[in-house]
Formats: sequence, structure tokens, C-alpha cells
Amino acid sequence: MAIRIDGKAIAAELRAQMKAQVSQMEEDGVTPGLAVVLVGEDPASHTYVRNKKRACEETGIYSEVHTLPASFGQAALLDLIAQLNARPDIDGILVQSPLPEGYDEQAVVNAIAPDKDVDAFHPENVGKLSLGEAAFLPCTPAGILALLRHEGISVAGKRCVVVGRSNIVGKPMAMLLLQADGTVTVCHSKTQNLPAVTREADILIAAIGKPKFFTADMVKPGAVVIDVGMDRDEAGKLCGDVDFASVEPVASYITPVPGGVGPMTIAMLLQNTLTAARLHNHLPASGKQGS
Ligand code: NAP
Repeated sequence: MAIRIDGKAIAAELRAQMKAQVSQMEEDGVTPGLAVVLVGEDPASHTYVRNKKRACEETGIYSEVHTLPASFGQAALLDLIAQLNARPDIDGILVQSPLPEGYDEQAVVNAIAPDKDVDAFHPENVGKLSLGEAAFLPCTPAGILALLRHEGISVAGKRCVVVGRSNIVGKPMAMLLLQADGTVTVCHSKTQNLPAVTREADILIAAIGKPKFFTADMVKPGAVVIDVGMDRDEAGKLCGDVDFASVEPVASYITPVPGGVGPMTIAMLLQNTLTAARLHNHLPASGKQGS
């Protein structure tokens, strides 16, 4: 039976460490600040933003949420981002995705100052990530590496299979695993005979957004299974991309949904905000990113 990786508890540990770091920064007269921009009425986005704000409050990070109607408009949004870019009390800017129809999401991301881009989605930060020079790591993949590190699971030399190639999860995940010396394969909807590939994985990252898609026959006995999915089952209940009941007896480690990767994503957002505040205020870095 697999060991369940308790992302909720590990994220709480990290938040406690960051709270202490924020107190120390306050002694230097620095309060890290995060601005979150939420456009439209998507209920899941409203929940994510509430959770992010709560995590900031718990850690002592100043946060403000700009809740805007879908009719706000691209030009006004770009104007708001320019104002946030110029504010010295704001270290990080996050625009919650997805934006409503009619917005050019990439243009919005491009408008965020790279040194405030705590999601690490700006092309400059994506480029730096691929060069191994990133100041900010994308939150979900960084959170997954932090989970692996916490459990003492080494990536070096392991067969890592990432299923999903989105810009926010799959691609940066593959990049980080490669930098950690994994032997990485990336799969997607056009991959042929997916189960044959996933069965080779020592570390399997499931990130496709299909409820309970990965079943025991797709998993090598003893594999580490990381479930990024945030899906709804037939009954409307939150579940992951992995069929937890069938895979748990086969894997060596597994992340649950909820309580696995999700809380770590938010913890890494806070960590990136602290990193940005240190950079802006010329304070020394604290430890390794994602650790
Ligand atoms: P996305 O942009 O929709 O990308 C999905 C990827 O999965 C695509 O690359 C797609 O392939 C691939 N795919 C879809 N069906 C497949 C199949 N049957 N076999 C193999 N590959 C398949 O999704 P995303 O934004 O990366 O998110 C993925 C999941 O993670 C979602 O459930 C999302 O809610 C969740 N998520 C969770 C967190 C967290 O903090 N826990 C953060 C972000 C996302 P193609 O490229 O060929 O279309």
C-alpha cells in the first residue's frame, strides 16, 4: 500500500517557516505584498483566490484582491497592471486564469513586470527556467519537487513520465525534472499506447484534467504517483486524474486529491512573493527555491 504524501501538512510546515521569515523581513522594514487580479465570475477562480488571500494573511504577507467584472476590458486591465508594476509596496502580481472570453491572456501575462511575475508565466521567466537561471519557479511544478524532496524521493536517474504538456504544468514540470537529473518523457493526447509509456515510470506525473483516468494497469508496481488533476467525478465530488482506489495498492507513494499538490501550489506562490520582496529590497536570499 502506497504512502500518502500529505501535501496539506507539508504546505502548512512551509507556511509556518515563511511566517517566521516574514517577521524577520518586517524587522528590516519590509512587508512582502501580493496583488491578485480576478476578472469575471468563474466560481472555481473565486475559490482559488480566496484560498490564496487566506494563505497570505496567515503568513503575514500583505495582499489585495482586485475583483473586476468580465466587462472590465483588456485595455483597462493592462492599465491596472501598469499601475501595479509601478507600486513599490507590491512585489508580486498574479492574474487569475482563465480570463473571460475576449481577453488576450498572453498579452496580459506579457504586461506583468518579470520581477513581479510570481506565477513565472512571463516569457522572460519561461526562458530563464529553461536556462536554469530562474528566480521564480512555476508554482505547481515547484510544489511537486518540494513534495518529492520532503519525502526523500530522489529524481536523479529515474524514469519520469509527465502526462500533459500545458504551459503551466506539464512543460515546466518536465523542465524541472530534467534539471533534477531525471530521464524525462512527456506524453499528451496524441501519444500512442500511453499505458505502455506510463508503466515505465518510476515517477508518474498525471496532469491531464480527466477524472480517475490513470488506473492500476497504467502504473508500474512501486512507482511514485503524483496527481495534479483537479476534476469532478460523476457525483460532482472533487477528485484527481488518478483512480486513487485502484492505484494506491500498487504505488509506493501517492498524492491524494484534495490535500496533495493543490496546497503546495499556493505555498510556492507565497515563496515566490517572498523571493520577489527580497530581490526588490536587496535582502539576502533564503535557502533554495522550492525547498
Ligand atoms: P490543460 O491545459 O487542459 O492541458 C491538458 C494536457 O493533457 C494537454 O497537454 C493534453 O494534450 C493532455 N491530455 C488531455 N487528455 C489526454 C489523454 N487522454 N491522454 C494523454 N494526454 C491528454 O490542463 P492543465 O492546465 O495542465 O491542468 C491539468 C489538470 O491539472 C487539470 O485538472 C487542472 O485543474 C489541474 N491543475 C491543478 C493545479 C494544482 O494546483 N493542483 C494547478 C494547475 C492545474 P494535448 O496537448 O495534446 O491537447
